[in-house]
Amino acid sequence: MSQFLVAIDGPAGSGKSSVSKQVARVLGFGYLDTGAAYRALAWAVQHLEGFDLDGLVNKDLHADFAYTISLNPDDYWVRVGGHDLTSAIRTPAVAESVSAVARIPQVREFMKSLTRDLVAKSELPGVIVEGRDITTVVAPDAEIKILLTAAEEVRLKRRSAELSEASAASVKRQVSERDASDSKVVDFMTPAPGVQLVDSSDLNFEQTVNAVVSLIEQFGSTKESK
Ligand code: C5P
Repeated sequence: MSQFLVAIDGPAGSGKSSVSKQVARVLGFGYLDTGAAYRALAWAVQHLEGFDLDGLVNKDLHADFAYTISLNPDDYWVRVGGHDLTSAIRTPAVAESVSAVARIPQVREFMKSLTRDLVAKSELPGVIVEGRDITTVVAPDAEIKILLTAAEEVRLKRRSAELSEASAASVKRQVSERDASDSKVVDFMTPAPGVQLVDSSDLNFEQTVNAVVSLIEQFGSTKESK
């Protein structure tokens, strides 16, 4: 079955999760948040027996990491075994430790095949897949590839609004450090060839959603006219 894939990458606070989810709703597509699996693995390292950071290199994650996620944009959940981690993976403790997990090459290789399996097994006709390396590594053949960015000060402001408890200073430190650390592993700040840049610095949420939807619709009409 051929699936229509939209790959969206971008840094923390670019709005890619909420924008991707809304685009999926508008188009009747599935939505796959790939960062959730890295976060769930970071949570497992902190909470589950048999998961430690140094041991991940040799661990058979296909067998031992019982990860599932919903691709329904209106019913989002994340689970590992019997644990519902939908909220637990959003804590500062997980955000601070996730980059260390994400920089392990064996983990990235596992995540690539996990993501491809989740998309294929969903049997959905179209899926918006969102992350850091989707346009370049996981789905370089996606029909539409987008890098969603925003100026750093705009991203930090958006993140502070999301995490009401944390002080602006610690949010800034958290986001900047995570991006700096992540961008040593994957370049998600400059678009690779064939990747379209959407800069949301001066766009509100609705305008950003519309910008992405119109790129997808343009692709559809170009195909039809061929
Ligand atoms: O997107 P989100 O902020 O939830 O991602 C959490 C972390 O997962 C990122 O900071 C990054 O370390 C890692 N990640 C990644 N590649 C992806 C998605 C997320 O390395 N495709």
